[in-house]
Amino acid sequence: MTLPSPFMTPEREAFRRDMARFIDSEIKPNIEQWEADKGVPWELHAAIGAFGVFGFGIDEKYGGLGFEDAFMRHDFNELLFGCGASGVAAAVGGRAISISPIAKFASEEFKTTVLPEILAGRMMSSLGITEPGAGSDVANITTKAERKGGKWILNGEKTYITGGMDAEWFVIGARTGGPGLAGISLFLVPHDAPGFSRTPLGGKMGWHCSQQATLHMDDCELPESALLGPENKGFIAIMNNFNFERLSLTSGSLGMMKVCYESALDWARERKTFGQRLIEHQVIAHKFAEMSAKIDLNEAYIERICWAINQGLMPVAELAKAKVQATKSLEFVASEAMQVFGGASYMVGNPVERVWREIKIMAIGGGSEEIMRDLAVRQMGLAGQ
Ligand SMILES: Cc1cc2nc3c(=O)[nH]c(=O)nc-3n(C[C@H](O)[C@H](O)[C@H](O)COP(=O)(O)OP(=O)(O)OC[C@H]3O[C@@H](n4cnc5c(N)ncnc54)[C@H](O)[C@@H]3O)c2cc1C
Repeated sequence: MTLPSPFMTPEREAFRRDMARFIDSEIKPNIEQWEADKGVPWELHAAIGAFGVFGFGIDEKYGGLGFEDAFMRHDFNELLFGCGASGVAAAVGGRAISISPIAKFASEEFKTTVLPEILAGRMMSSLGITEPGAGSDVANITTKAERKGGKWILNGEKTYITGGMDAEWFVIGARTGGPGLAGISLFLVPHDAPGFSRTPLGGKMGWHCSQQATLHMDDCELPESALLGPENKGFIAIMNNFNFERLSLTSGSLGMMKVCYESALDWARERKTFGQRLIEHQVIAHKFAEMSAKIDLNEAYIERICWAINQGLMPVAELAKAKVQATKSLEFVASEAMQVFGGASYMVGNPVERVWREIKIMAIGGGSEEIMRDLAVRQMGLAGQ
């Protein structure tokens, strides 16, 4: 946006500048290799962890930043998803959605020994909620946890789990009570627990440098202390997580829109057809007016939401609506950018080609568009709560 933001601060500006410089020098030149390797190097986790970006809202004694700042969460995700391969953000940032239940409910010993390693990017953790039989419908997860002889025994499967092949620790949702959301608890599961195994998921259309796994729990044995937070209250514990995940995917979609806009604009200023540069054809120029309007609107909405979060509010409906607007706008902007590139957009290596393949994971992951609209309607009190 060319207009100045009332929410910009010198601290944010400095953070964005440092992050952008790091992405330009350490990430962008390596993207093609990492996509081909189907993974990012382990050192990248620690290098990004050193920015403190996994420690928002977490006490400094556990390795966190000691403060919450939704704007900086937004800045980080916009820039990292906007690096040109949003899979980099998934590969490294996948841990983010498992951190808050650990910070809130794990034992003091775990929080002083393992949590700082996760926040620093020296260890990986993942969140396992989705199952082969239940994704959007979290209330119907069937992975079961039973108390037996002073231990918890887990049985079930989780799938699509980001970072699942690398993680040393998992936050797993399992059924401990009756049907529905009120019967779900969270467990902290080490990768080497007896009865726990994992298999990598096969080919994906995008996010090539980020791996997903299926987790198998066959009489997986855990100590009593593995229960995270109150029994049967696991859904409440992860709800806040989902909100921050939605903020990150919304900000990330904005970053991806900017990749499309900027690369298409460069092309339109160079490419000549019918004796004129593309940008001089009114039909093409109008595409940029529309694309930049979408970018501005999304940016303004996200900043307003970040402001609300920093005021101590959690605008659940707005986050849900913003995520849908962002992914729909991303679809529009990526499509228009591809039209501007013409045939070149269809070639692997074109900056928009990868974004195009990664739109749908933004629109489906972390709460799909359909589910987000439904949530917004309920949160606004327009339909059954
Ligand atoms: C690359 C990738 C990474 C992921 N990472 C993780 C992870 O780290 N941890 C994790 O737990 N999960 C993860 N997921 C899972 C993701 O969150 C789910 O895929 C998502 O929530 C949708 O669930 P589903 O795929 O089971 O679709 P379903 O729930 O089966 O839904 C299918 C379609 O129907 C629509 N739909 C469903 N119910 C309704 C309804 N009531 N009304 C209208 N439409 C409806 C949905 O919007 C969707 O479009 C990941 C998925 C992918 C692809």
